[in-house]
Amino acid sequence: MSNSFVGRKVCVRGWIYRRSVVGGKAFVRVRDSTGVIQVVVDKKKCGEDIVRTLKDIGLEASVKTCGELVKQPRAPGGYEIQADWFKVVGYSRDFPIKGGEGIDYLLDNRHLWIRSRKLTETMKIKHSVLRAGREYFIENGWWEVTPPILTASAVEGGATLFPVKYFDKTAYLSQSAQLYLEALIYSLEKVWSLTTSFRAEKSRTRRHLAEYWHLEAEAAWYNMEDMMRVAEELVAHIVQYVLEHNRRQLEILGRNLEILKNYVEPPYPRIRYDEAIEILQKKGVNIEWGDDLGADEERVLTMEFDKPFFITHFPKEIKSFYMKLDPENEKLALGFDLLAPEGYGEIIGGSEREDDYNKLLNRIIEQGYNPEDYKWYLDLRKYGSVPHSGFGLGIERLVMWIAGLDHIRDAIPFPRFRGRIYP
Ligand code: ATP
Ligand code: MG
Ligand code: MG
Ligand code: MG
Repeated sequence: MSNSFVGRKVCVRGWIYRRSVVGGKAFVRVRDSTGVIQVVVDKKKCGEDIVRTLKDIGLEASVKTCGELVKQPRAPGGYEIQADWFKVVGYSRDFPIKGGEGIDYLLDNRHLWIRSRKLTETMKIKHSVLRAGREYFIENGWWEVTPPILTASAVEGGATLFPVKYFDKTAYLSQSAQLYLEALIYSLEKVWSLTTSFRAEKSRTRRHLAEYWHLEAEAAWYNMEDMMRVAEELVAHIVQYVLEHNRRQLEILGRNLEILKNYVEPPYPRIRYDEAIEILQKKGVNIEWGDDLGADEERVLTMEFDKPFFITHFPKEIKSFYMKLDPENEKLALGFDLLAPEGYGEIIGGSEREDDYNKLLNRIIEQGYNPEDYKWYLDLRKYGSVPHSGFGLGIERLVMWIAGLDHIRDAIPFPRFRGRIYP
């Protein structure tokens, strides 16, 4: 509602968020997809029956009302509706969420909890993240493609695969569309996709889901540095878009807008894995060259930066077989991670890909995979191989950071992780 409606008749449909009855008047806060507004239902205007009904009505009942909009500094949002009439559409008896319940109870009632303010505002931010991401690729001449979800082999390691029965065979839910995107660059050159990725993560953490939305990009002729530029421009564009379109949502969630404004100007800092290890060791973290960085190590590193930043040139042993090795030091893989600041950590993982048939074959064998399973993927290096690079961005990781959430489960309406598949 806004000033231009003051003094005019307005109608609202929504759900009861709060209500109290004082004397012959009911004060009802009605929630719809745009927000919450106070409605005053006076028995003198609307009749005694409805005020009596409202006295005992359950939260979340659906209602319709029309009346005059007036300024009311004491009401949330600064306006209220003085109802001419008020009608209950669907009753709600004993809404199971009253406030103060524990997390497992709330997750069991996720189908109702998603009506909450926090989750609603977060979903609006996610809408903007998806929209701005798509916009970035359209504006920069990338093709959107649709890779498969049912696949025959692993991309990011066998331990986190979800097997599914596929006629008389076993297939796996996709962990990443990367290998398929790589096949598509030979015709389309610059491709991207948005799909669900599945990972049977064994441990429950704040940043891992079993099913998440994965935005992936792959481009022919791009080296690692070219691809890092795409990654940082994409993230900066998305943050900028959310700042422009979701100020209200960010405020409701208590996100510090001034901090977010630091993130809209690429380039982001870059450090090598070597330097990351040095920083960690200086800070007293017990880590050696060759160890993988987990959430805890990443959190320590983020304290050194006031922007997202890249870590590059990892030991090849801790990175996937498809990454190209650094020609200047073959112990290193030309991979990069983009870490979000404020303790959040990895939001993007990317690399330059190995484009040489024999080197790729060796890496597949070295990492213990069966080359037979990658026959088609190896083919891509036989017919007009080109240098190319790509990355994957976890949408919920990005939303979690932009919205300032403590847990990734709130960046998706129906989170899946170990021990949770209902509702
Ligand atoms: P992590 O180190 O956090 O386990 P990863 O290195 O295994 O992540 P990648 O294989 O690089 O992840 O996947 C690309 C991106 O997908 C990650 O940078 C992250 O944003 C996102 N991602 C990966 N695993 C998950 C997950 N289980 N839940 C949500 N997002 C994920
Ligand atoms: Mg992982
Ligand atoms: Mg990682
Ligand atoms: Mg990664």
